[in-house]
Amino acid sequence: MKKQKPRVAFFDFASCEGCQLQIANLEEAVIDVTKLVDIVSFREVMKEHSDDYDIAVVEGSIMRPMDEERLKKIRENAKILVALGACACTGCVQRMVNQWPVEESITTVYNKDEALKDNPYFANFETKALDEVVPVDAYVPGCPIDRDEFCKVLVALLLGKKSPVPDYPVCVECKKKENVCLFELGKVCMGPVARAGCGAICPTHGAECEACRGYVTHPEEDAQTDVLTKYGISAEQIMQRKSMFTYRYIEEKAKQEVEE
Ligand code: SF4
Ligand code: SF4
Ligand code: SF4
Repeated sequence: MKKQKPRVAFFDFASCEGCQLQIANLEEAVIDVTKLVDIVSFREVMKEHSDDYDIAVVEGSIMRPMDEERLKKIRENAKILVALGACACTGCVQRMVNQWPVEESITTVYNKDEALKDNPYFANFETKALDEVVPVDAYVPGCPIDRDEFCKVLVALLLGKKSPVPDYPVCVECKKKENVCLFELGKVCMGPVARAGCGAICPTHGAECEACRGYVTHPEEDAQTDVLTKYGISAEQIMQRKSMFTYRYIEEKAKQEVEE
């Protein structure tokens, strides 16, 4: 009897859907992917949907109680759950909203409409990454993801191998390319703490790394702050840079300090 391929379903929460789009744009590699798995649900590219799946690939961050409930159901149905992209892995840019009281965000964004504050849609308006709600088995970082890396993560999962996502900083890739360090040019770069795997694409093209792939597991944040201070970068600039994609780490550090 022919062995059944693992069944994969894609889901999205608060996101721009750009990471799913990367997969939809896999082009000829789609054929290789479909040799390995059956895609049973993928709203961006097909009408069919099935709740019978082995692997759930989930994009987006969790912002409402109803999102939490839906994610828990997806987790119950799946043997493996993959967090797709920065929104799912860390909360991405929408996590910046956690810096302000809910009412302030709502009245600022929605033209001071006080009535919206009582709308249940906005209840507990707080951004979370997937693994703050359910266990996650694998991560594909980045904003957007690298589609080749997604394929590598999928193959590693199917073979029961370790994740191919690197756990060293972007600076390593940047140095290998013999780039002039952006700090020498008066710019601010998150490369020393950002997770590599993108080939240091931003600094290679003269753009500052914003750590869209999140931090390495053990970031040397204090050393990084010393470097930033040495180059005359203000605490405000440092905070701005750290809030963009990585506000999750600021929250976690603050929580840890309270617990200590
Ligand atoms: S990680 Fe970036 S590209 Fe992917 S869904 Fe979120 S905002 Fe869009
Ligand atoms: S430009 Fe950024 S990534 Fe490259 S070496 Fe300097 S700090 Fe590191
Ligand atoms: S260089 Fe930094 S911001 Fe650019 S893709 Fe890599 S991790 Fe993301």
